[in-house]
Amino acid sequence: MPVIGRFAPSPTGPLHAGSLVAALASWLDARTQDGRWLVRIEDVDRPRCPPGMDQVILGQLAACGLHPDEPVLWQSTRDSAYAQALQQLAEAGAAYPCACTRADIDRALAAQGVVHERFAERVYPGTCRPERGGLRGRPARAWRLQVPPGTVHWHDRRLGAQAQDVASEVGDFVLRRADGLWAYQLAVVVDDAHQGITHVVRGGDLADNTARQIVLQRALGLPTPTYLHTPLVLAADGHKLSKQNGAAPLDLAAPVQALQAAGRVLGLPPLDADSPARWLAQAVPAWAGIIRALSTRSDSP
Ligand code: GLU
Repeated sequence: MPVIGRFAPSPTGPLHAGSLVAALASWLDARTQDGRWLVRIEDVDRPRCPPGMDQVILGQLAACGLHPDEPVLWQSTRDSAYAQALQQLAEAGAAYPCACTRADIDRALAAQGVVHERFAERVYPGTCRPERGGLRGRPARAWRLQVPPGTVHWHDRRLGAQAQDVASEVGDFVLRRADGLWAYQLAVVVDDAHQGITHVVRGGDLADNTARQIVLQRALGLPTPTYLHTPLVLAADGHKLSKQNGAAPLDLAAPVQALQAAGRVLGLPPLDADSPARWLAQAVPAWAGIIRALSTRSDSP
């Protein structure tokens, strides 16, 4: 089966040193396996995406020598595919409309004696599940997946064996938000399948979404790609480098240095090159060595 990888940035801000690690790793992983590398602009949360930021990101990738092998896909063009997936789930009884506000959820959790931390994610108490009476005349706000019980086991090529009981640890998660926007989980699963992605390589901060995505793939009858989550780049204060905490955009005046820094995070040795293309050409065999070492570890399948 041909290998197809992807980089799927949300255009909420320019790429920074941390996002380049994911972009580079996904590119190298596809190249090492003679695969194709795609770019998908995840602008599903439109209000958070400043106009033109997608082009800024595509320009940054190009400056680093990272060119997609197929036309870029924008999630903002994919509404009908997401609607179709939701309809498929609803018809199969795997998704249901939910009328609960955040306050309703807190009240229901409190009534169950669940005290949650102020910023912790709430596990939806299942108030609007069909078997509990559904909407009971209240207007629908969001759509949720009816998560089946049981632990999801999956393998991360870097982190090894992973397991999560999505039903009890996350609960029935949102597919379509109360504001009408599609949830990341639905969009990413529908699009990974649509683009035939076989190898997902992305930042380690996304690892704990994977079990949810696998549950959703199974509910939609879609294949599960292999996963590799890259190490995170930490800011000087030890926090994850992110657009939210104001990480500096990549310095396009020095793309080789930017690649070198990203490569260091991935365990690549320093490579002596005077252009991004030459740097990348040397990085491919180095990445192949890293992947070989990972795949011969004892916890690999
Ligand atoms: N759009 C997501 C982000 O920028 C990444 C999604 C993914 O790679 O699955 O954080």
